[in-house]
Amino acid sequence: MGMGIEAAEEELRQNIESVRSRIAAAADRVGRDADEVGLVAVTKTVPAYRVRPAWELGLTDFGENRVQEAVDKIPLIFPEASSEIRNSSVGIHWHMIGHLQRNKVKYVIPLFDLIHSVDSVRLAEEVDKRAGYAERVMPILLEVNVAGEASKYGFAPDTVAEAVPAITELPHVEIQGLMTVAPIAEDPERVRPHFGRLRALRDRLADHFPDIDWRHLSMGMTDDFEIAIEEGATLVRVGRAIFGERDL
Ligand SMILES: *Cc1c(COP(=O)(O)O)cnc(C)c1O
Repeated sequence: MGMGIEAAEEELRQNIESVRSRIAAAADRVGRDADEVGLVAVTKTVPAYRVRPAWELGLTDFGENRVQEAVDKIPLIFPEASSEIRNSSVGIHWHMIGHLQRNKVKYVIPLFDLIHSVDSVRLAEEVDKRAGYAERVMPILLEVNVAGEASKYGFAPDTVAEAVPAITELPHVEIQGLMTVAPIAEDPERVRPHFGRLRALRDRLADHFPDIDWRHLSMGMTDDFEIAIEEGATLVRVGRAIFGERDL
């Protein structure tokens, strides 16, 4: 939008600094260590040339919600790196945060480090199959529709426990926690109970399934990440507060 490269980078630097200090303050308010909260910078609609500067400014974790966009974009960010060293050698981790169709799983396996959006046993089975072909174990989160919104994907909260045994049978997926996309609310305080519900569900699952390391609660976005941290988030997914408003 006519902004010079230096001005754009300065704005990005300030945005990242501001998000980091807001994360630290939110953690501090509830006596948590800010190191317990991972920042996933959401790059959907953000072109590749704007992602690399964010990595150069110290961000290591990036999220995409559409498979095709990720497949097209990720190779452009480090064009000098071959595909197999692309992610590991530069210390960048990709998070699949959007709804995933089973026929797209094969593209996700080589590019992503964590799938936040597993919302059915059948999807977990496909991830297991494809991760098996690639001789890897794919870390996953189970997406939960805590508010029961018809428009949202995710397990209904009371169906997660019955899905877990089938998923733990799968040798090439590893459950690492839960994820939710909270309802949009004018007042972010109104989403606090939903985050609390996800944490309470995690605690119950941890009691029932103590052999699983339920380490992650992926919750909170630009409008509500501080509340999510106060309620126990270990991964916040922040797009607009870092890269600015999306114009698509
Ligand atoms: C877009 C998106 C985000 C980030 O949203 P912002 O409001 O830009 O921070 C987080 N999670 C998911 C699943 C998304 O699709």
